[in-house]
Amino acid sequence: MGKPVITVVGSINMDLVVAAAKRPEAGETILGEDFYTSPGGKGSNQAVAAARLGAEVHMIGRVGDDEFGSELLKFMEKENIFLNGVEPVPHSASGVAMITLADGDNSIIVYQGANKEATPDYIRKYESLIAKSDVVITQLEIPIESVEETARLCQKHQTKFILNPAPAADLSVDVLMKADFITPNQSERETLSKQVDFNQLLDKLIVTEGKDGVVYFENEAPRRISSHSVSTVDTTGAGDTFNGAFAYAIGMKKDVETACHFANAAAALSVQKLGAQAGMPTQDEVNEFLR
Ligand code: ADP
Repeated sequence: MGKPVITVVGSINMDLVVAAAKRPEAGETILGEDFYTSPGGKGSNQAVAAARLGAEVHMIGRVGDDEFGSELLKFMEKENIFLNGVEPVPHSASGVAMITLADGDNSIIVYQGANKEATPDYIRKYESLIAKSDVVITQLEIPIESVEETARLCQKHQTKFILNPAPAADLSVDVLMKADFITPNQSERETLSKQVDFNQLLDKLIVTEGKDGVVYFENEAPRRISSHSVSTVDTTGAGDTFNGAFAYAIGMKKDVETACHFANAAAALSVQKLGAQAGMPTQDEVNEFLR
C-alpha cells in the first residue's frame, strides 16, 4: 500500500519558552535562564508526527500575517506538509503559547490568535481535501463549531475521523458519535466521562495513559498495551506523537491493536528528546525500535 493521505484540521502556534528558577509573583520581574522559540500547536505537532512517518499530510488551519506566521509555514514546508489549506489571516497575530518552565513543571498561556479564524466556512473551503483523505484528525484548539463541521464533512465523505479531545472542552454527543476514534489522555477522559455515557463510546475510545501506555476496548473489555521503558527526557508532545502515528497506522488500514502498538512505540521514541517535535521519529526509527 502507498502513502496514506491524512488531513489535519487544527492549530498552528509558536511556542515561546522561557526557563526560570521560579515563577514570578504578580507584579514581580525576574531574570530568566534560557529562552527559545519552537513550532507547536497540537494540529501542527500531529501533522509533523504523521509526515515524518511517511504519510502525505495536508494541513487545514490558519497562521497570522506576522513573522511567526511565515516561520511556521517555512517550518511545516520543510517537514513536507502540504499547506494549500493554511491561509494567513490579514492583520492578525499567529497563535502563541507562552510557556514558563520553572520548578520542574510548566505553566502555559495559549493565545489562539489566527487559529480562531479556522471557522466552519473556512474548513468548508477545503472540503475536497477531506473528501480525498484516508484519515482526518482534529483537536480542540480551533473553534468547536469547526470541529463539528469537520465531523460532518468526514461523515459526508466517509473519511475516517479521529477526534483528539485536547485540551478538554465541552463536546456534543453528536460530534463524539461521528468520530471513528476518540483519543483522550487520562484527564481528558475524566472530562469526557462527565459529558456522556461512556458505554456509548467504548468501541471508539483509545485512552493514552502516559508511562502506563494505552488502553482500548474490545467487546467492551479494556485491553492495555504497556508503554516502552525508555529514558525520558521530555514528555511534551508525547500525546501528539501518539495521535499522528495512530492516524498514520489507521490510514495504512491497520487494526486498532496494531495501530496502538505502533503509536505507543513512536511516542516512546519522542519522549527521549527535548521539545515537542524534535523527538518525533521516522518510520525507519520506529521499525528499528520494534525489531
Ligand atoms: P499527553 O501527552 O497528551 O498528556 P500521555 O501522557 O498519555 O499524553 O502520553 C501519550 C503516549 O505517549 C502514551 O500513551 C505512551 O504511549 C507515550 N508515553 C508518554 N509518556 C511516556 C513515558 N514516560 N515512557 C514511554 N512512553 C510514554
